[in-house]
Amino acid sequence: MTNIYSIGVGLIGGSLALDIKKNNPEVVIHGISRKDETLNKALELKIIDKKAVLEDVKHADLVIVSIPVDATVKLLPAILDLIPDTGLVVDAGSTKFDICKAVEDHPKRRNFLAMHPIAGTEFSGPEAAFEGLFMGKTNIVCEVEKTTFKLQEKALKLFTDIGMRIRYMNPEAHDKHIAYMSHLSHISSFMLGKTVIEKEKNERDIFDMAGSGFESTVRLAKSSPEMWTPIFEQNKTNVIETLEEYITNLKHFKELMEQNDFEAVFNEMKNTNHIKDILNGIA
Ligand code: NAP
Repeated sequence: MTNIYSIGVGLIGGSLALDIKKNNPEVVIHGISRKDETLNKALELKIIDKKAVLEDVKHADLVIVSIPVDATVKLLPAILDLIPDTGLVVDAGSTKFDICKAVEDHPKRRNFLAMHPIAGTEFSGPEAAFEGLFMGKTNIVCEVEKTTFKLQEKALKLFTDIGMRIRYMNPEAHDKHIAYMSHLSHISSFMLGKTVIEKEKNERDIFDMAGSGFESTVRLAKSSPEMWTPIFEQNKTNVIETLEEYITNLKHFKELMEQNDFEAVFNEMKNTNHIKDILNGIA
């Protein structure tokens, strides 16, 4: 692969470009973005080698699409229309059902691989990109059987070479599980931040009293609404289900406190401590 086009040069697209370039110095990374200032920043930070426009993907060996998921659904068919027969297109979107659906009948469906790298931070844009983001992280690949075998092999090598382990899942299962593991955590963090901001109008007090517990729990509330709104829209049914279960648990906790049942409050937390073993197992 010589000519790689990165559509979206923010945290994910930029970090992928940096890792791929480090392993393959001979590749030319072409950046495509909506705003020229974003591309200039990516050039300045040496995330990309050259600026490009959408039509240029007709020269691509690989196109990596890392833009908000609503924009991905709109743009993906046009990208597949343009790429050469030997070209591969991968997307990094946090939802998979609507994205796979958008190209299910496309004549070049076999040139597309749907994936979701489970790696990230709360920051966005080219400045947030860094080398090594994907080391030791999982890359969920959906509908692998719909991609030409040769292109699958190329893509999987590229991503295992930057330290990712591959897991296969269908798009429905991906969207259901990711609603619990990622989307609910973001909503919970956003609403925790909102609750505290509304109550503590004096921001200086929040700053002075913010211990590491508050800071780590509210970290995800710094995330980009431009990226998260279309994710919640596309995964609405699953996300609402997780919210209902979460709200039930919050209400139950409140009722136990109202009833002065602190033994049950203790047990709720003790039982949930098991999360330590689960997370240690994952690490
Ligand atoms: P990001 O840092 O905000 O970068 C987004 C990029 O997309 C920028 O280059 C931006 O360029 C461009 N863009 C924004 N809106 C656009 C639109 N409507 N049409 C076309 N381009 C647009 O976002 P990111 O965190 O890299 O996320 C990119 C993708 O990866 C998303 O699909 C997200 O779901 C997925 N993802 C994110 C994470 C995470 O933790 N952040 C993890 C895994 C997967 P301009 O400045 O030129 O608009």
